Amino acid sequence: MHKLLEDNHGRKASYMRISVTDRCNLRCTYCAGEGQEFVPHSDILRYEEILELMDMATRLGMVKFRFTGGEPFVRKGFADFLIAAAARFPGVDMCVTTNATLIGEHVDRLASSGVRRVNISLDTLDPEKFHRVTGFDKYDVVRANIDRCLDAGMVVKVNAVAMKGINDGELPGFIEFARSRPLDMRFIEFMPVGLETGWSDHSVWKAEDILAQASALAELVPSGGEGNVPGGPARTFDIVGGQGRIGVISPYTNHFCNTCNRLRVTSDGNLRTCLFSDKVYRLRKVLRHPRLGIPAVERIILCASRHKPMGYKLLERMVGQGVCKTRMASIGG
Ligand code: SAM
Repeated sequence: MHKLLEDNHGRKASYMRISVTDRCNLRCTYCAGEGQEFVPHSDILRYEEILELMDMATRLGMVKFRFTGGEPFVRKGFADFLIAAAARFPGVDMCVTTNATLIGEHVDRLASSGVRRVNISLDTLDPEKFHRVTGFDKYDVVRANIDRCLDAGMVVKVNAVAMKGINDGELPGFIEFARSRPLDMRFIEFMPVGLETGWSDHSVWKAEDILAQASALAELVPSGGEGNVPGGPARTFDIVGGQGRIGVISPYTNHFCNTCNRLRVTSDGNLRTCLFSDKVYRLRKVLRHPRLGIPAVERIILCASRHKPMGYKLLERMVGQGVCKTRMASIGG
């Protein structure tokens, strides 16, 4: 791996999350919050600009890109862009995180073009609760599109934000869901990111509790290989006798900052080196400046990534409060 993107803690950035829009067609309580203002269209990075950034990022050692949002499929032309990006960077892991409400018509084309890994957000298996949490009656569409992705041979990870009083009573259903399908059902601890999300320490359904409860419901064996990278974000378990797996991601109770390999670029072209920090490096104006452009952006990324913080230290300092004021929908998760 390229040495240039190593930070002062010895971590190497190899994974870039790129948000293509801050707009979403759902209003998940834990993510969007109220009173949203959206980035004007002229400030959103154009697809050609994102490709330029990706060219540079691959030269610096990025081997994985994940597109996120807002909801990426809300942006016009996103599926075509994704297919073009997969063709342009054939050796690179190209993934997408989506609420799966709009992916249906694109699944087959994406699957055959090399976009084979999709993370789908689904916080409940109860259609009415889905409506309450997301603000929209789209549960059936999401469920159908999960099946469509599986049928197309995609690697599907379903992510639920683990929230007390919301979905902590649904573990038996989630385990059955994963037992009967070849997918990973992962629980992500509710994170104190954004304002007005209803977050408090008490609202976090903690990973250790999830695992203890799940172990009482099914025989779980730590998975080998991908999904259980030592020190990586997810701890994943095979369900004995089942097709799928259960996983937990514990950014709140058991941080994985020591092995963080991520950089984030928001839809308006801000670089974020840590999810738990409001610090941003503004790339868009530099990228669009006729005398600066990519070489100057590259210098900023090199310098910023050297100073990437240890997010858990920010979390410790801000205990009981939101650590980052920007809503998750604007960062991309
Ligand atoms: N619209 C897409 C989706 O629904 O997956 C992509 C954007 S969404 C911001 C990316 C991920 O962030 C989702 O898996 C979502 O559940 C997660 N997320 C949002 N707010 C969160 C929070 N406060 N704590 C933990 N995860 C959160």
